[in-house]
Amino acid sequence: MSGIESADVVVIGAGIIGAACAEALSAAGVRVLVIDRGAPAGATTASGEGDVLVSDKEPGPALELAAASRRRWPELLDELRELLGPGRAEIGWDPKGGLVVATTAEAVGPLAALTAAQRAAGVAVEDLDADRAREMEPYLTEELTAVAHFPDDAQLQPVPATAALLAALRARGGEVHSGVMAEGIVADRAGAVAGVRTGVDAIPCRAVVNACGPWAGHFSETVGAPVDVLPRRGMVLVTAPLPRFVGRKVYDSGHVDTVAGGDAEPRFSAVVESTASGTVLIGSSRQGTSFDEGLEVEVLRRLARGAIGLFPRLAGVPVMRAYGGFRPCTPDRLPVIGEDPRMPGLWHATGHEGAGIGLAAATGRLLADLFTGREPVVDPEPFRVDRPEVALEAGA
Ligand SMILES: Cc1cc2nc3c(=O)[nH]c(=O)nc-3n(C[C@H](O)[C@H](O)[C@H](O)COP(=O)(O)OP(=O)(O)OC[C@H]3O[C@@H](n4cnc5c(N)ncnc54)[C@H](O)[C@@H]3O)c2cc1C
Repeated sequence: MSGIESADVVVIGAGIIGAACAEALSAAGVRVLVIDRGAPAGATTASGEGDVLVSDKEPGPALELAAASRRRWPELLDELRELLGPGRAEIGWDPKGGLVVATTAEAVGPLAALTAAQRAAGVAVEDLDADRAREMEPYLTEELTAVAHFPDDAQLQPVPATAALLAALRARGGEVHSGVMAEGIVADRAGAVAGVRTGVDAIPCRAVVNACGPWAGHFSETVGAPVDVLPRRGMVLVTAPLPRFVGRKVYDSGHVDTVAGGDAEPRFSAVVESTASGTVLIGSSRQGTSFDEGLEVEVLRRLARGAIGLFPRLAGVPVMRAYGGFRPCTPDRLPVIGEDPRMPGLWHATGHEGAGIGLAAATGRLLADLFTGREPVVDPEPFRVDRPEVALEAGA
């Protein structure tokens, strides 16, 4: 016996998405137990730079979820502070804003078209001339052709945020068990969820949330209700701590296309920001659909070159380390949030690609809304499990 009793809902995965779902369900009075084969926030969530962005979303469902999450994070933070006290709810929330930068004549038109569409969709965005942009970011390149300022872009620290969400769950009587692998689902005679099979025994429950991040595709296949979620590799260069010279999130205007594009070839865009400790994080790359952990020098070189293009001063700074992670990615680049019609009681909350930290607050809320039958925080339809881009045939 593992000693784990029962729950209304077992959330599989203690990354930021599983933690946000567990917190939101427990706030709605649901008895929740979270299991993770490793440690909380020990996988993709630990790789996240922590950006909570509206600037990199095109109008449509991704932007709606991002805007809802941007509104929800500060509210959620207030709720966590009230429940846990300010110390345990410290998640490094920094509403610092973002700059999207074009450095070629060809990039001006696409950036103007994107910001016009975002503005029409209600996003706060301001066009800056080069002087104003360099007033805000004095070390930015002089090769500017257009700059857009997004005051609502923010950042938080993913690991403390996950810990705070799980602490709130525990404060409401929920449980978190590390080192417990979900190996399958126990179904009742009608084929509905009745428990989770672990390496040791089974945990009785009436619903399961698959929040396995980049492993969600694998888990869903194991239980016979596959969703198309694959890992998308990303690498980050980290400088030594420096006197702060990058104030905001700054990235090149090709980034939105890099995120949306396919994986036949590695894809790059220059993404730069500081952290509270003074290190500068340099991304971003996207490649492959396997769990290959190797760091490639050529990829790191491309990241460095792109960052120096935005901030020439970075050419002379020491790099402290590089790391990689696996974004959980769906073919249509939208997350999967909802119950699986193929197996009553099986829910999925996954596929957030490079935006799961930002999208976690609204994802948890949406899942809890759907679970409890409340008015959903955003239209759930685009994220539904049985959309053709995502639901795979069992055994195919
Ligand atoms: C380099 C990089 C930078 C990023 N930067 C940002 C950013 O700035 N902003 C942003 O919003 N997003 C960012 N992201 C994306 C973000 O990190 C992810 O979208 C998010 O962390 C996904 O969280 P998750 O909880 O779904 O997955 P994970 O954090 O991977 O959690 C899944 C958990 O499930 C567990 N698990 C898997 N299978 C099982 C099983 N069978 N049984 C038990 N446990 C299991 C794993 O151990 C893991 O802990 C970045 C990603 C990368 C790689």
